[in-house]
Amino acid sequence: MNLIEVMERFPDQESCIEHLERIRWQGEPVCPHCESENVAPKNETQEEGKVGRTGRYNCYVCRASFKVTQGTVFHGTKIPLQKWFLAIALMTNAKKSLSSYQLSRDLDLNQKTALYIQERIRAEMLKKTKENLLKKDESELIDLISALTWTRNYMLEIRDRNPRQYELFGNKT
Ligand SMILES: [Zn+2]
Repeated sequence: MNLIEVMERFPDQESCIEHLERIRWQGEPVCPHCESENVAPKNETQEEGKVGRTGRYNCYVCRASFKVTQGTVFHGTKIPLQKWFLAIALMTNAKKSLSSYQLSRDLDLNQKTALYIQERIRAEMLKKTKENLLKKDESELIDLISALTWTRNYMLEIRDRNPRQYELFGNKT
């Protein structure tokens, strides 16, 4: 999948959220805190200044609120999902390895953020290669997005390996 195709298929945050929700929940949202299905989308029209759907849900059982990105590598950063998806496309399409400086210029991110994204994606790519699941073209990108979505314990791994980096992105240890 090239950059144009990614931008067409995932034009905004909302379309990215919907894609992740399809992969993770198949239309049946589940609370990641207590596994309850007794959940409902938060009424976001009440949130002032918000445009479009941010994909937040409320759980009626444990009273927590959550998003589809909860517990995934996408969680806890302010980076728009489209930039994550574009980064995945750039990295999977690159013939040689892409530097974080190049990625930061391409996606208009600061270099530290680009490096953060790159390390997360690279770790998933490595796992995929090990599992020998890498396929060509579009399915490769979609597989990677799925893999990233399903890495529930990934942030905890980062915390164990590199607590400073974990905290840098607004996560509490
Ligand atoms: Zn719950």
